[in-house]
Amino acid sequence: MENGNFVISLDFELHWGIFDHTAISDYKINLDNVGLVIKRLLALSDKYNVNITFSTVGFLFASNKEELIKFKPDLTPSYNNRQLDPYAIFPTIGNNQEDDPFHYAKSLIEEIKSKPNHEIGTHTFSHYYCVEKGQTISEFKEDIKTAISIASVMDIDIKSIVFPRNQVNKEYLKICADLGLTSYRGTENSNIYRPVSSKKNIMFSRLMRFIDSYINITGPNTYNKNTLTQDGLMINIPSSRFLRPYNKRVNIFESLKVKRIKKAMRYAAVNNEIFHLWWHPHNFGKDIDKNFNNLEQIFNEYQELNSTYNFNSTTMSGLVKKLFQ
Ligand SMILES: [Zn+2]
Repeated sequence: MENGNFVISLDFELHWGIFDHTAISDYKINLDNVGLVIKRLLALSDKYNVNITFSTVGFLFASNKEELIKFKPDLTPSYNNRQLDPYAIFPTIGNNQEDDPFHYAKSLIEEIKSKPNHEIGTHTFSHYYCVEKGQTISEFKEDIKTAISIASVMDIDIKSIVFPRNQVNKEYLKICADLGLTSYRGTENSNIYRPVSSKKNIMFSRLMRFIDSYINITGPNTYNKNTLTQDGLMINIPSSRFLRPYNKRVNIFESLKVKRIKKAMRYAAVNNEIFHLWWHPHNFGKDIDKNFNNLEQIFNEYQELNSTYNFNSTTMSGLVKKLFQ
């Protein structure tokens, strides 16, 4: 008998996830260390038998600029806010991973792929914003088709998606399903985790999410497999918690943060529910040891829950296979 599932998805994006608001120089340590972080993640997950879904930006699959341009779809997102257009920065990026490890990552994708227990999913081709004004459903379709095709060059079959900035557009889910994807990561049920637009609401939600990372406001955010919904044939595997990076300003609360995660995992294991944890590899790029120390405590808890309750670590597409196919 199996009791509950532990899902981890990582938004693997490097600079493409933040280029519109953060210069490389302002986040250089974090970005510089992503390669190291991925290697340590692979080693640690091996040690604890944990399976991870790496939701990867399609641009990162390109070997060089020539290939990147070759894959550029005819239709690209026509955001009203032109600052969000990643194609506009193509002229400024380097030619390949060697001279620009902030915009290319093929060798890291190869390393992940060499461990077949993990999954490589998509974080869209261009870090696409699905509810931004100006972009259209046809532009989204082209983007996802391209993400699938650049992955297929490496014999990688894309089955799951994490939407950038968690912007889920319900109308776009059918496109994903038609292209062969089976699951996506939705947000936590509580209102404070819904994407919001007004400045005042953003500030409020951010503050509440911050507090909720340390002190229980919204509960464990775990869920029973029977409540998983199929939106447009895609299974929503909602997030339970964002693993916040180590924060030296609230150092004394680090143990509360880890404790809150462990408690929710235990709740999921005992009650045959799902716990879904996520973060970005670049979150671990600074204070690496501190972040990995937190993660190892979480993996230790997983190991114990696995042996006591048969709590099971699974990828996003692995979960869909297990429960629905
Ligand atoms: Zn992202």
